[in-house]
Amino acid sequence: MAALNWLIEAGADEAVTEAPIDRFTLPSASVAPSAPRSVARTNLPLSQIKPATLAPLASDGFGSAMEIAARCFSLSDLRAAMESFEGSQLKKLATNTVFADGNPNGGIMLIGEAPGYDEDKAGLPFVGRAGKLLDKMLAAIGLDRTRVYIINVMAWRPPDNRNPDPSEVALCIPFLRRHIELAAPKILVMLGAVSARHVLGLNDGIMKLRGRWLEYRIGTATIPVLPTLHPAYLLRQPAHKKLAWRDLQALADRLDTLGLPTAAGN
Ligand code: URA
Repeated sequence: MAALNWLIEAGADEAVTEAPIDRFTLPSASVAPSAPRSVARTNLPLSQIKPATLAPLASDGFGSAMEIAARCFSLSDLRAAMESFEGSQLKKLATNTVFADGNPNGGIMLIGEAPGYDEDKAGLPFVGRAGKLLDKMLAAIGLDRTRVYIINVMAWRPPDNRNPDPSEVALCIPFLRRHIELAAPKILVMLGAVSARHVLGLNDGIMKLRGRWLEYRIGTATIPVLPTLHPAYLLRQPAHKKLAWRDLQALADRLDTLGLPTAAGN
């Protein structure tokens, strides 16, 4: 139990197998490579991300994703570009590109991790059990999908909900950054450690990050960011809903100061 608590404190928020795996005893080839530092260090204007400074990927898919994303000047361009993108193996295995749901003009963008089974089928983020809980969390501060815009780091479902490998994540990052740039939210909410890691480049556990206001810089904009607990984690750890509630209250307060009233504050 102490070891489990330690893992939760360190930011682990999902069990990926039934039994623990001691990766130190596995042959080195079967140990997943760690993410190249440059993949996590994404808080740069798109124009400053140079393919030459990135760890080599299996193909030049990352470079083409960057070029394609940079040529999109509206959300509908970006959606069309992602739907026709040929460079992702994950996309070939997915049923749909999960682009976004909600209102891109509401000023509030929520970023989750990756589509699951239900989202892949529907082509929309957060429509399964975690999504239902997310809707309730939003409703608690007077918000709904007509007021917020919801995306994921990964637009394509990793098969069997496995963790995407670093090169699969890297392919999504240029689209993700362009998505944020084009939607130009006034507030970003990171749902869980994975989105905090890939958007902010922070490897701290979500228990350390949650509830702290951080900043995301893109172009000339600096956007306040609030990391909080992922609803899927809250389904497994309902006792931690009180922490999420505190974060939601902090979000509601910040919306007030930014003049983005919640329905409750209207
Ligand atoms: N979890 C996520 O992070 N995103 C979804 O769209 C669904 C579940």
